[in-house]
Amino acid sequence: MAPPPSANANSVIVRKYGGSSLATIDRIRTAARSIRLARQQGHQVVVVVSAMGKTTNELENLARGANPHPPRRELDMLLSVGERITMSLLSMALAAEGCPAISFTGSQCGIITDTSHTDARILEVRGDRVREALARDQTVVVAGFQGVSLEKEITTLGRGGSDTTAVALASALQAERCEIFKDVPGVMNADPDLIPTARPHSQLSWDQLGQIAASGCGVVHLRAVEYAAKHEVPLVIRSSFEESAGTTVSCLSDQPVAARESRFRPLAMIVHDDVARLGLATNDHNLARLWRDLVLSRLDTAATVAEWLDSGQGFRWEVLAPAPVIKPLLEEVSQPEFSPEGSLVHEEDLACISLAGGQPDCWLEVERDLSSLLCEIGCPGWRLRADGSCLRVLVTSADLEDVPARLHARLFPV
Ligand code: ASP
Ligand code: MG
Repeated sequence: MAPPPSANANSVIVRKYGGSSLATIDRIRTAARSIRLARQQGHQVVVVVSAMGKTTNELENLARGANPHPPRRELDMLLSVGERITMSLLSMALAAEGCPAISFTGSQCGIITDTSHTDARILEVRGDRVREALARDQTVVVAGFQGVSLEKEITTLGRGGSDTTAVALASALQAERCEIFKDVPGVMNADPDLIPTARPHSQLSWDQLGQIAASGCGVVHLRAVEYAAKHEVPLVIRSSFEESAGTTVSCLSDQPVAARESRFRPLAMIVHDDVARLGLATNDHNLARLWRDLVLSRLDTAATVAEWLDSGQGFRWEVLAPAPVIKPLLEEVSQPEFSPEGSLVHEEDLACISLAGGQPDCWLEVERDLSSLLCEIGCPGWRLRADGSCLRVLVTSADLEDVPARLHARLFPV
């Protein structure tokens, strides 16, 4: 694939390749060729890589085989290996292309994090070795998703965290931009596998991308977007498989205000099927504490679709997550000591259609409009819930059928 057109001599660009873009040796070699072309345009290139294909899931399964609740420090030791495999292979492939390269782990780049294993936050990026290698005219390949804590332990940044590595490095190196290569042609307004008419956004603001990421759409790691917004790192999200401009993300001037009737224009629709709902409610303080601890220690936040927590006087908590994630949690909270009569709600065979962004003036108005739209397209038992800058539409899996396509056609007109 051809490199981007503008090339300020010697400007640094950071490129991030996701797991599917590097799933095979062939794809790694394709990425190496594209990187060589960017080098030939005069860019200095830093490449951040994810683990190949589904490697991280496989490593996680191995860990759960050894221990259903593996110690998080050891999990980090294991999961960080996935990206190290890719970085060395890509570096070798670059050398084979005649493009001198060197790979570094997060820790070798001086990516310093806090100590919260499996979900660490970046505190500082030193980047000395990266700068030195660039000065030697090498292409630098960095293992994403990992760093080293202030206690000198290897940490990982949470699932999908390689995006955050890339953005943090781009900021530290004052890169011209950070390009995130995906298997889709940009930030789409729906999943193209599900909705063939889905289209990429050509431009978004950091804030808009944040609204999409916060809704549970895995396009870019939410923390990466927050980091980019805070440090004003321009992003480009584009395909590693086809030639297209992708989605540019930067600071956008205010959009023109649409007429009131058509003001709710969500930015993206995300559909999760086979979702289960688990709710707990109690006014008993001790029980509330037990629940909170259990939920916090067991729930994989990366796998949740939506979560509502209200722990004022009493305790009310509700989560929507894939059924296999809810199942073990349900077994635990169903124990007699956890769930006195009537305090537990559990529902299965649900699907959740999330409509992210769109900045409505008034959620009630949107709910009213959407209610009539859902009646019109013949979706009987829907429920709506406003959640931050997102609207969740809950339907039964049986009713899902063509509802997403029909909603998409109405809410995302061409
Ligand atoms: N390999 C890690 C994951 O699958 C990190 C990443 O891909 O960004 O979550
Ligand atoms: Mg991955």
